[in-house]
Amino acid sequence: MLPETAYQIVHDESMLDGNARLNLATFVSTWMDESANKLYSEAFDKNAIDKDEYPATARVETNCWHMLADLWHAPDPDNAIGCSTTGSSEACMLGALALKRRWQEKMKKLGKSTAHPNLIMSSAVQVCWEKFCNYFDVEPRYVPISLEHKVLDGYDLEKYVDENTIGVIAIMGVTYTGMYEPVKDIAKALDKIEKDTGLDIPIHVDAASGGMIAPFIQPELEWDFRISRVYSINTSGHKYGLVYPGLGWVVWRSTAHLPESLIFKVSYLGGEMPTFALNFSRPGAQILLQYWAFLRYGYNGYKTVQQSTMDVANHLADEINKMDMFTLWNHPTDIPVFAWMLKESPNRKWTLYDLSDRLRMKGWQVPAYPMPINLTDITVQRIVVRNGLSMDLADRFLDDIKSQVKYLESLEHKMPKNNTRSFRH
Ligand SMILES: *Cc1c(COP(=O)(O)O)cnc(C)c1O
Repeated sequence: MLPETAYQIVHDESMLDGNARLNLATFVSTWMDESANKLYSEAFDKNAIDKDEYPATARVETNCWHMLADLWHAPDPDNAIGCSTTGSSEACMLGALALKRRWQEKMKKLGKSTAHPNLIMSSAVQVCWEKFCNYFDVEPRYVPISLEHKVLDGYDLEKYVDENTIGVIAIMGVTYTGMYEPVKDIAKALDKIEKDTGLDIPIHVDAASGGMIAPFIQPELEWDFRISRVYSINTSGHKYGLVYPGLGWVVWRSTAHLPESLIFKVSYLGGEMPTFALNFSRPGAQILLQYWAFLRYGYNGYKTVQQSTMDVANHLADEINKMDMFTLWNHPTDIPVFAWMLKESPNRKWTLYDLSDRLRMKGWQVPAYPMPINLTDITVQRIVVRNGLSMDLADRFLDDIKSQVKYLESLEHKMPKNNTRSFRH
């Protein structure tokens, strides 16, 4: 067929995806400035792995993770090491692979078995951690969250740690609720474990979203390389890094924290450049877009953007909290994300899933889902506020949620049950 015909067919079909700006479910950027769009269209042929063909992009990539190392208080940013990835999932895998290899090398030196590595994390981890454990043969040890311990906070940690523990994952911005895990408390619990047992357990911080919020909104909060037990940190450039989908970052506190045996060399300007990645070829354009965003906003610009996102999240949370059928699971005090629950009422004819469907009719995507193991009886609904959801648009959303709740409250019979839903974090 003619290229225009093929275009029209694909274009028309993709219209069914819905309006990205009304998607309050995703963490991923759906808006960038015109000049970023221009830069993107000039760079969509670049392959990030071809350091020799695209040495300028390679240099920009190095600049970017050095800036992140500095932002996250690496003791000596010049001696840190990092890389870009396709997203936080790949970045998490690289961080965890480094933990695994480091542990293997340590155990081999001690003449001990490396057959049964385990990794400790909250039951509310993002699905990439389940994938890592499945794909790379590591036993996941989930610490269940509860109403008393809404996040992994170091409580009971000694029951999970043993000599086969490759590390602990701390999440800065749990996907279910947006809450930070107190990395400092987790580190303190591990300090005590080291004192009692001699086991020195490192932390990887999954800061997919919080890595680009905390340095601007909670600069006093110590969660990063200021804590010596934190070996590596990942973030998603395409979340609060404000870049279109396809970009993640991982940084190690120093070159000594990334085992040499994982590094491959690719040719670069007649020389060699170290690389560590799961993919070979992948787009290089997002790397340039990240650099654009760093230059465009600077520290103060990021702070302003993230603060206005926080303001919108707080406004939405306050208004939803005022509606008497809802209670908030959390206020958006950490990242601009919050979740709420429906209060029990014997005569209620609807659930949060029904509300989610009704909002979808208005174009809004607002997921409802059960909390993880031990709390699966609790259903929550969540909003992720991102750059591009203005106060004005938020008010239109509030009009819609109020009118849809009014409709659901007026029902005379229960909504039919739908068991086909699924939602993966
Ligand atoms: C989004 C997210 C991930 C996965 O990141 P991608 O960039 O989508 O691959 C991992 N962990 C957390 C905490 C997240 O929020």
